[in-house]
Formats: sequence, structure tokens, C-alpha cells
Amino acid sequence: MNAEIIAVGSELLTPDRVDTNSLFLTEELNKLGVEVTTKYVVGDDRERLAYTVRTAAERSDFTIVSGGLGPTEDDVTREAVAMAIDRRMTLNQGILDGIEQRFRTMGWKMPEINRRQALIIDGAEVLPNDRGTAPGQWIDVRHCSVLLLPGPPHELKSMFVKQCLPRVERRVPKMAIETLILRVAGMSESDLDQTISPVYKQYSNPVTTVLAHAGDIQVHLRARCATTAEAMTLLAEVGGKIDALLGDRIYSRNGDPLEVVVGQLLKKPHATLVVAESITGGMLAERITTVPGCSEYFLGGFITYSRKLKNTLLGVPLELIEQHGAVSRETAEAMAIGARNRSGATHALAITGNAGPTTDGDTAPVGMVYVSLADLKGVITVHRQFSSDRERIRQFSSQMALDLLRKRLIAV
Ligand code: ATP
Ligand code: MG
Repeated sequence: MNAEIIAVGSELLTPDRVDTNSLFLTEELNKLGVEVTTKYVVGDDRERLAYTVRTAAERSDFTIVSGGLGPTEDDVTREAVAMAIDRRMTLNQGILDGIEQRFRTMGWKMPEINRRQALIIDGAEVLPNDRGTAPGQWIDVRHCSVLLLPGPPHELKSMFVKQCLPRVERRVPKMAIETLILRVAGMSESDLDQTISPVYKQYSNPVTTVLAHAGDIQVHLRARCATTAEAMTLLAEVGGKIDALLGDRIYSRNGDPLEVVVGQLLKKPHATLVVAESITGGMLAERITTVPGCSEYFLGGFITYSRKLKNTLLGVPLELIEQHGAVSRETAEAMAIGARNRSGATHALAITGNAGPTTDGDTAPVGMVYVSLADLKGVITVHRQFSSDRERIRQFSSQMALDLLRKRLIAV
């Protein structure tokens, strides 16, 4: 079954607010096997909203409208939905009494405009609101259920969980949904897609989505079957084929981020890590320390942005930087060796690069990044030329460093 979600409110069309209600609703609906096929954001405009509701209700099993149930003139959801499905509204005395009572307990008299909140579309079931004044409404229109929910997220969540989920469950055939998340580093999104799409395109179930973020790609496989066992078998079949194509470029099969995976790999042999960061200015250490228990393996780091500190803190000779440049294989290696020697860590990661937007007199082009790893076996260095903005180049760099360490640790 499928659903369409309509977020109502002119404020959601400004640069200051985003619709988060639909994210919550999508998550809850997906758990029941209901796919969200379309989302809309519509301003406080009765005609436009009525048109959108009509469109959505014609082609979905559930049309969920959030917001615009307040008492003011700009709250037009009730009228727009009534217009869209061609029904009248009736004032519900019981609800009006309830709203008046709510105001009385707060020591206020109910303003006249709040009467509008007691208008119920003919044939609607009233959904009580335990967090606010506006009740929700559930209307079955031919093949589609139209839901009117309040905009404030805490009101919507409570109403949806208590009032709507049980009703949705009764209408949806029981399905088990299982998800497999594969996380991949060291590949571009297009490269990955080209590699695995011949496999996942053969299957409409599980549904495969590829999400990419600065050097970190997630492949989500979602299987919907009659039983959990069937869903797991299907995921194992398709996941196994993708696994075979990507090999050790997959760093996680349970959703864990790279810093968690690297932490686990360091713990096993009781290894320790130190970092020396130039271009990332502490981002690498920040990521490593988001993991609880990282003190077991993470000693700390050197943020050596200037040539002077690369020299005084890490012992990188100034002549070497002069000769090869701050962004060079030689400097990265000397940083890693210096950090390892001065900290006593078993592994040292160093990053130097040019994040741009200008070259600042350095000889290396914008986006050039060197990462070195020093350990017992010596030093290895990788370099990449990224073409992106400053923030993403820095994120790519920290990802590249963690992945270099991961590969080294799984190779032993
Ligand atoms: P009210 O009685 O508060 O007017 P309402 O049902 O009319 O309730 P709206 O006026 O649409 O709701 O929204 C009230 C507030 O709830 C908004 O200011 C906004 O902060 C929040 N809100 C509304 N819609 C959303 C949404 N889709 N996602 C996140 N927040 C929302
Ligand atoms: Mg409102």
C-alpha cells in the first residue's frame, strides 16, 4: 500500500523552516510496509491545498495532511479537504464543549475563532488531541483514507501513534520488513552504482537505494515479505551478490560508521592511534572521539596547521617543507613519523592538503590531499585530487584517512 503526505503551512515555504513531520510519518508508515510515494509542501492557500488533496487522494491508499488545523484565518485545512472531497462540515457540540473546557481550566475564556476547530467533515471519525485543542480527523473516501493531523510535531506524533497507527494496521496486510545497510568507502557514487546496478536492477524486492555523502556511500536494501525469515533470506541473496562485487570496499554491514569500525579493529590487537592534522584541523580526532570507549586506543592528536607547528610539534624539518611544499607526500610522511615517535602510538595518521578555495601560495592545487600512515611496518601514503568545496574536501580527507587505516588493519 502507499501513502502521500501533504505538509501545510506558508512558513514551511520560507528558508527558516522545514517539514519534519513527514520524516516521522514516513518512518512509522514504512515499518508497516506502507510506501510513501509523494510528499508536498503547500502554503496556507485553500484552493491550492484542495487541488493537492484531490490529486493525492485519487492515487493513494492514505493521504495524510499535517498542519493548518489551528483556529486562525490562515488555517484552511478543514475547508480545503471538505472542498476536495465534496463534503460539508458540521459543528460538533461535544468537541466545542471540550475546547471551551480546556480554556476554562487555564483560566481563560475561549475566543470565538476557536469554534472553527470544532468543525468536522461529514463522515469523519474524530481523532482526539491529548496535547492541544485541534482534533484530528480520519475520513474514508472511496479507496483512500484521508487523515487530518495537527502541525505541531509533539501533537502530531502523539495523535498518529495513539489514534492512527492502529487504524492503519487494520487496513494493511501483515508484512515483514527487513533492512540491510552496506557502507562503502573509497569509491565514487557513480562508480559504485555502475558496479552494483546490474545486480539490484534485477530485483523489485528488495528495494535498493544508494545514498552518498562525502566519501561515504550507503547502500540500503529493504525487503518486504510475508515473514521475517523470507525477508532475511532475500536480503542474504541480494546482499551476498553485491558483497561479492564490492569486497573489502564495504567497511560495514550493520550501519556502523567508519570511526566505529576502525575503533573495533584497533581494539583487537590492543593498538593505539595518534593523529596529525593540517587540512582537517581536528575533524579526524573529532570523529574518532564520537565513539564511546575510544580512550582504549586513541591517544590524541596534533593540529599542526602552520609550517612552524609542523616543525616544532612534529619535528618536520622546515627545509623539507620548503623543498617539497606543505602539501606533499614528503611532508605527510614526516608528519606521521613525527606524531608516532613523539606519542609512542602504534599507528599514526597524518593529513595534509589544500581545501581551497585558493591555493594560498602553495604549489599544490586546490583539492589535493595526502594521507600517511606510520606503523611498525613503515609508512604508506595515498593521495587524491578532489574537486569539491572546502567543507566536503575536508570531510573526504578524514574519510580517506580512516579508510587507509582500516585497510591496513584488516590486511594483517
Ligand atoms: P496551531 O493550532 O498551532 O496553529 P496547526 O495544526 O494549525 O496548529 P500549524 O499552524 O500548521 O499547525 O503549525 C504549528 C507549528 O507547528 C508551526 O509553527 C511549526 O513550528 C510546526 N509545524 C507545522 N507543520 C510542520 C511540519 N510539517 N514539520 C515540522 N513542524 C511543523
Ligand atoms: Mg496554525
